[in-house]
Amino acid sequence: MSRPQLPLVMPAVPDQRWDCHSCTRCCRELVGDLRDEDRRKIDAENWADRLGVAPYVSVGRKWALNKRDDGACVFLLDDGRCRLHAELGFDAKPFACRVYPFTLTESDGKWLTAWRFDCPSIARSRGRDITVHRKMLNKFRPELPRRVSAGDETVELTRRRPTARGEIDALLDRLNTWLGDDTRSFADRMAGAASLVDTLRAANLSAVREQRFAELIDMLMTDLPAAVDEQSKAPPTSRQQAMFRQLVFAHTEHLTLGEIRSRLTRTTRRFRQLRRSRQFRRGVDRVPPLPGSDAKTTFAEVDRVLPAVDDAGEIVSIAGRFVRTRLLSRYQFGERYYGWPVLDGLGALWMSVAVLGWLARYFAAARRAECVTTPDVVHGLALVDGAIGRSASLGTTGERLRLEFLAREEGIARLLGHWRLVDPMRGTGPTQPTESST
Ligand code: SF4
Repeated sequence: MSRPQLPLVMPAVPDQRWDCHSCTRCCRELVGDLRDEDRRKIDAENWADRLGVAPYVSVGRKWALNKRDDGACVFLLDDGRCRLHAELGFDAKPFACRVYPFTLTESDGKWLTAWRFDCPSIARSRGRDITVHRKMLNKFRPELPRRVSAGDETVELTRRRPTARGEIDALLDRLNTWLGDDTRSFADRMAGAASLVDTLRAANLSAVREQRFAELIDMLMTDLPAAVDEQSKAPPTSRQQAMFRQLVFAHTEHLTLGEIRSRLTRTTRRFRQLRRSRQFRRGVDRVPPLPGSDAKTTFAEVDRVLPAVDDAGEIVSIAGRFVRTRLLSRYQFGERYYGWPVLDGLGALWMSVAVLGWLARYFAAARRAECVTTPDVVHGLALVDGAIGRSASLGTTGERLRLEFLAREEGIARLLGHWRLVDPMRGTGPTQPTESST
């Protein structure tokens, strides 16, 4: 007997659009995991002989579509089309390719939907309104793996403090409202959100539950504008900066399929990683090459890059949609984010936004530009979104301790200064307040 289908929930993120524009980034940069059913379909069409190379390869205990020497999927045609799609139709493609850039996971008797910002059309909001794709996503439901989902009730708010009924909704609703208030600069909105979460993390919440927890948030929200004004505008300390640079390193340790399968031993890879990690911690001279760029750029040159002059509105829109998608789709805590408690996961999100700011400056410096532009932000966001929730190194205990350290002495708020990518003279809202540059 077939089981009843669960409803599909899409986060309500204003101004989010998407259609595939066939840029082929996903076919070149991502590793497409295969299910058993995908491999069966590929084998049935005898693709190994038709391509002349293995259509898929093992990666650890999984299988992935094979890549050519230039990094592109073996099914990618010269004209940018997928050969599986071109010859056999959309349904012949592996599930991961058909569903990208969406992700669907089960929680509390629903399919929670999110979308990935490493797709440039998502990042730049190009295409039809995102909700148009609900019909297509509904068709995937019979193919989605069902499992016993514990839901929100087992997620911790902070360590050893389970969430109580309605608490996650109460917190996310208030944060969403605050982050959507475009009468404030985006940097101030981020600083306020970080301040709220830091205050909650530092409080003893064991006896403050359900309705009282919601009332506490309301009280803190009333004071938030003043708290943002009073926040230290001091630059981060050198220790905070060193820890932050290591966080940048952790967000950019992206291995290609070639590197994963290369003959390099695990020890050699580890040695190279340690050397890069040390270079980031020291933060002097040249920045180790990052994915997508081997420019000879120094840390000092990255720090000298100025905020955007012309692209302020689009840059704020990209960052705002990214943060609200992560929040509203609940992809920032619990089983979708390394099993982390809610407040730890939100702290990690604010720091990922700070990392995005640094990376946008890096890519501007790498092309010898004075100011950040939208493509620099899109490039940085592809790395950030490809790493968070996916890279094992960002989910370690060491990473959580780093965040705890950075949350002290307003470290997160100070480091969010790296996000200040927008020229103070180019407003984004009707009453744009000051957006100072670092
Ligand atoms: S990255 Fe996005 S726009 Fe580009 S081909 Fe993939 S789905 Fe389409």
